[in-house]
Amino acid sequence: MELAFLKGLGPKNIALLHKLKIESLEDLMTFYPFRYNFIKRSNINTLEDHDTIIIDGVIEDFPKVFYINKKLNKLSFRFNIGAKIVGVTIFNRAFLKRNLTVGKSLTIIGKWDLKHNMIVASEIRFGKLERETIEPIYHTTYGLSNSSIQKWITACLSLNLEVEDYLPNEIISQYHFLSKMDAIKIIHHPNEIESLKKARTRLKYEELFLFMLKMNYLIANKSITLGLKRKIDEKKVKLFIDSLPFSLTHDQQKAIDDIYLDLISPKRMNRLIQGDVGSGKTVVSIVAIYINYLSGYQSALMAPTEILAKQHYETLNKFYEKFGIKSALLTGKMKVKERKELLSRLKNGEIDVIVGTHALFTDDVIYQNLGLVITDEQHRFGVNQRSNLKNKGYTPDVLYMSATPIPRTYALTLYGDMDISNIKTMPNGRKEIITSIKGEKDIKDVLQAMYEQLQLHHQIYVVAPLIEESENSDFENVHHLEEKMNLAFGKLYHIGVLHGKMKDTEKENIMNQFQENEIQILISTTVIEVGIDVKNATMMVIFDSYRFGLSALHQLRGRVGRSEFQSYCILISNRDTKRLEILSKTNDGFKISEEDFKLRGSGDLFGVRQSGDMTFHLADLKRDYNLLLRAKEDSLAYLKNHDIEKDDKMLSILLDSIIQA
Ligand code: ADP
Ligand code: MG
Repeated sequence: MELAFLKGLGPKNIALLHKLKIESLEDLMTFYPFRYNFIKRSNINTLEDHDTIIIDGVIEDFPKVFYINKKLNKLSFRFNIGAKIVGVTIFNRAFLKRNLTVGKSLTIIGKWDLKHNMIVASEIRFGKLERETIEPIYHTTYGLSNSSIQKWITACLSLNLEVEDYLPNEIISQYHFLSKMDAIKIIHHPNEIESLKKARTRLKYEELFLFMLKMNYLIANKSITLGLKRKIDEKKVKLFIDSLPFSLTHDQQKAIDDIYLDLISPKRMNRLIQGDVGSGKTVVSIVAIYINYLSGYQSALMAPTEILAKQHYETLNKFYEKFGIKSALLTGKMKVKERKELLSRLKNGEIDVIVGTHALFTDDVIYQNLGLVITDEQHRFGVNQRSNLKNKGYTPDVLYMSATPIPRTYALTLYGDMDISNIKTMPNGRKEIITSIKGEKDIKDVLQAMYEQLQLHHQIYVVAPLIEESENSDFENVHHLEEKMNLAFGKLYHIGVLHGKMKDTEKENIMNQFQENEIQILISTTVIEVGIDVKNATMMVIFDSYRFGLSALHQLRGRVGRSEFQSYCILISNRDTKRLEILSKTNDGFKISEEDFKLRGSGDLFGVRQSGDMTFHLADLKRDYNLLLRAKEDSLAYLKNHDIEKDDKMLSILLDSIIQA
């Protein structure tokens, strides 16, 4: 129903609501608060230093304003809370001064500074507030206050509109869920926490159930997409695998078997290979390309950067030398003529496998018979290139490789109908990296450990969060570390610096020097996270390591431990060692990502892909993981017990999402 239906809501406010993507009364009702203020008065006698405080009182004297600099002012006054008088300070609210007359009653919200008997306020409330209130807080936009959104929502709720409840009755009764309308009313006007929790769970569950129902329906029906017809000589595949300079690990072999079965089956392959850095995913893709070649099709191998593309190209050539496969590298640096010639060979089918970045799928790149597309580090691409391929009229089998392991259930929700092969076993002969946690005061031990590695003629990475000193933080920075390291080791060893603000050529230059062991200590920001492989580097020292996410730390650590030498990782941190302890206990990327998943409210691991139908109002795939699992089971059971094709309401929801997918 249209917003204009609401009495008193004029065009100006409607335009403001549109800014918040509220187009209808239904949107307005489901515009949920993103947080709540729990206004329950504090007991001053039991507060600890730094606790949140909410307290009523009366202004005791005239407020004073101090202008600290152009951007910062401070307003202070004394505040009588009955039992005693405390100080109140609030920043950048000088304008409040004229409203703060002596004797006025206020409610103050802020942090309690025990030592100074003072409140550092974040909010000053005028007027009468209930002693115990849960106040919904909405996202707002300029010109529209929280209280006016509250007002419009209250008005809207009083109309008693119908809301569509998508949860099946059997589920509602199984969990004793509130009715949807009741839940919506409570979420906007909560009286107490317990019922608010119930209401939120009910609404979240509905979102998650629908989401999983769609996913599971898609998965159950995916065999519809047909792939290519292939005939493959299995003996030749065996011969190729035997020609490799090492025997495959169990998981590599399993992944190859998965791929082989996908390729000979009539359905289209859509598979993700997950495995830690160094677990041997590239070799798997090399075998996959060979199988595809045997059945007469071209392959494309796509890497996130040109450096990695080149590295892959060189690796391929090494393995394919004796097998007559013609490969090519497409780079941005190629001359026009060179590129033209290469593209015409690709079009004529003279090239069997082409390696490059996403430029492999620009308009002028035409394949004769593209049969397999492999994407390395697929999460870096973000876009779903399957639709890209479809637009060009290709229906190749698709393989993704990722070194950012994702817990299985989450991967399922994230990648939808993708099959997954995990490579968990590492190739033989690798030593576990020994990881230790040190405080900043232990710097002498760290330097000593570094010195031992240097004496063995090994090299060291040192990582800091910042490039240079910053006003707003006391994090260690690259330039400061350079001084420190120079002081300790400068006489004996060469020290290089690498960071994101440097030119590409400068970076390449430094990297080459490190590769050639002309530099022994490389100090850097996290730019070394990608694509660097120096086998002689055996130590990774990370300053302010609590600053980084678990998975980022794991990736950084993966820069060492690439040879038969024992490698070390030293995590320096003065706080939050709980997360770091996980790293010190395991080298297993899968375990780490599971732990990361459990520990964190949000983070980089899951900034992977946002698919169109994953926009939830309330549910959060990370925080509500357990609810997601429940919804997954329930939706599977529901699909099993119901003929969804005959259920018009459910089917329309599902079809809706299939068109998106
Ligand atoms: P990833 O792409 O998963 O990071 P790579 O495929 O680049 O890993 O493999 C890392 C290194 O391990 C390469 O030098 C590769 O030749 C080697 N390797 C791969 N599989 C094995 C194996 N089964 N046994 C011994 N070495 C292997
Ligand atoms: Mg790789």
